[in-house]
Amino acid sequence: MLIVVVKNALNKHIPPYYHPENPLRINILLQAIEKLSISADFWVDRFDEKEAMKIASRVHAKSYVDYILDNCKKDFYELDPDTYVTSNTCELALETLYYSYKLANTINDIFMVLGRPPGHHAGLVGRAMGAPTNGFCIFNNAAASVLGFRDRGFRRIAIIDFDAHHGNGTMEIFYKEKILHIDIHQDPSTLYPFTGYPTDVGEGDGYGYKANFVLRPKTTDESLTHITTFIETLISSYTPEALVISAGFDGYKNDGLTDLALTSSSFYILGSNIKRFGLPTAIVLEGGYSTGLEHGFKAFVEGLQGIERVYTIYRDSPETLNMNLSNAKKVYELVLSHISS
Ligand SMILES: [Zn+2]
Repeated sequence: MLIVVVKNALNKHIPPYYHPENPLRINILLQAIEKLSISADFWVDRFDEKEAMKIASRVHAKSYVDYILDNCKKDFYELDPDTYVTSNTCELALETLYYSYKLANTINDIFMVLGRPPGHHAGLVGRAMGAPTNGFCIFNNAAASVLGFRDRGFRRIAIIDFDAHHGNGTMEIFYKEKILHIDIHQDPSTLYPFTGYPTDVGEGDGYGYKANFVLRPKTTDESLTHITTFIETLISSYTPEALVISAGFDGYKNDGLTDLALTSSSFYILGSNIKRFGLPTAIVLEGGYSTGLEHGFKAFVEGLQGIERVYTIYRDSPETLNMNLSNAKKVYELVLSHISS
């Protein structure tokens, strides 16, 4: 497994006031990497700006890319109440996007791009599927990885997004395409971006290829453990040639921005499953702000590496478990019938 840390994520795109999306996030990940005694590669300016711009314009509408580039000329600008840009945001966002593309285009193993800002809320023109803001995101890194895999000839690519918020930008970009997108997130009636209901299953050719698994506030590991068995079957039925993972750790208990209460066992199981699929896999960093980056990320990497660990699977209340799984089962059955047909 290759772990690429976008080094500029430590010193660019810095908010002038407290904002949860800041460089300290990467520092927390580096501490976790040190504890795991694994190595990470630090990449600095190993990117081709021209090519990065082209990738951005394939992922997003040209008008949106121009709008972002214009605002990056200012010292500081708020695109919306959640999302800021500074004079060096574009360099970092393009770099993260570029590596997410380039590695998918060349690496056969599992790789991880630890960069900033996150991307899964950024849709074709920014705010996606009626969301109120860009949710800290500038360019969609997961979508760039999909393009990277496609450009080397892969046709069947599956996306798994386990950030606690719905990956509305990614879903919007591929909503009408036959690309399997599985998204596990907190019930959108209770959390930004307020999109990604179980009934949203794609449109046109994409109908039946989008699985939104929603979790009630306070959900812990038991529900997620069950849902991962649905995911395993969906992935093996779809037989993808490559995987793109939007890895968000903000569903970890007390991470700060969501009401989920997942613990290390959830992230360990997710990592173990991804390893078992044995496919070229792009993992891009989405959210995670404190405990999730410290503990959830560590357990996720242990799972990815096949390290034996026994983490407690905390139980959900019967009502929460029942609600989560009855929604999940309906989505699972509908999507399974489409991807297998
Ligand atoms: Zn999130």
